[in-house]
Amino acid sequence: MSLPANKRILSGMRSTNPKLHLGNYEGALRNWVDLQDQGYEMFCMVADWHALTTMFDKPQEVAYNSREVAKDYIAAGIDPEKSAVFVQSDVKEHAELHLLFSMMTPLGWLERCPTYKDKKQDLGSAEREPYGLLGYPVLQTADILLYRPYGVPVGKDQAPHLEIGNDIAGRFNSLYDCEVFTPYKYMIPEDESRATLPGLDMRKMSKSYDNGINLSDSDDETAQKIKSAFTTPTKIRKDDPGIPEGCAVCQYLKLYSPDWETQWDEDRQGLRGCMQNKKELIEVINEKFRPMRERRAQLDEGEIDRILADGAERARAVAEETMRQVKSAMGLR
Ligand code: ATP
Ligand code: MG
Repeated sequence: MSLPANKRILSGMRSTNPKLHLGNYEGALRNWVDLQDQGYEMFCMVADWHALTTMFDKPQEVAYNSREVAKDYIAAGIDPEKSAVFVQSDVKEHAELHLLFSMMTPLGWLERCPTYKDKKQDLGSAEREPYGLLGYPVLQTADILLYRPYGVPVGKDQAPHLEIGNDIAGRFNSLYDCEVFTPYKYMIPEDESRATLPGLDMRKMSKSYDNGINLSDSDDETAQKIKSAFTTPTKIRKDDPGIPEGCAVCQYLKLYSPDWETQWDEDRQGLRGCMQNKKELIEVINEKFRPMRERRAQLDEGEIDRILADGAERARAVAEETMRQVKSAMGLR
């Protein structure tokens, strides 16, 4: 495949937890590494301001998590020589563009957003709902458009935000009669089980639900988690038939086990029990993620500081140029 002229790619993860999980990896990070290795120019952001929408009372934890998330990027194969690894709040242009977009984004677009409706429901009362939650997709749009990227590799849950982003880009261009922004591509895994990886409880695997297997979990932690994972509720004895589509353990086997088709067939026919599935899954997952875990354990703290400072500088160079174009289009000083 020949590369497009603009090879910039932007994506990020919220630093709501010090550890990324397999869903973050399958939905997004794995594609970042592939794109980097194909020669795309990657901007890998740690979204600390986004984390504050739900952790505004724990800013120090967010700051700690941000460094840890950067370590997971690198352990997973992001090469800081090739790709910019940076923290959102180190590049102030994200806040500036967010403010300008917030002036021109219709409220209806944000109130209709399904992820906003879900989070709002979780919070219960409007009194407890922070202003920043509604504006989340506007900040995300600023994050993306600052880099005028070719594409944005994310999991499927981000699709509604990506749409709002391209709509804001179109609105900006038409309001100020310019072509500062071009639509970016949504790079969501085609394989449904990677696009939305289920958690150990079969809800979406999420940092904030604590229902995931983390990239940097130890062999023992992984084993403990898999032992308590959700399986077919009606499969009580070994010879009861299973329903692999609804079983977290079978979903992970499909991703990581070369023998998953046989394992699924035997599960369906009641020829194997959940314990055997779990035992085999523990082995393949620990095997697969061992090199990443070892790389992460060897990362040097001082090195991370240098990587983040250098990444922010590279990000700022593109972000500053975008802000020049934005202000010029708007006729601002
Ligand atoms: P939080 O609960 O704090 O929102 P999260 O686990 O949803 O955490 P995000 O930081 O919101 O993670 O998302 C980072 C990236 O990981 C995004 O590209 C998102 O689409 C992707 N992602 C998150 N969860 C999954 C999942 N279960 N399956 C596939 N991709 C996922
Ligand atoms: Mg999320």
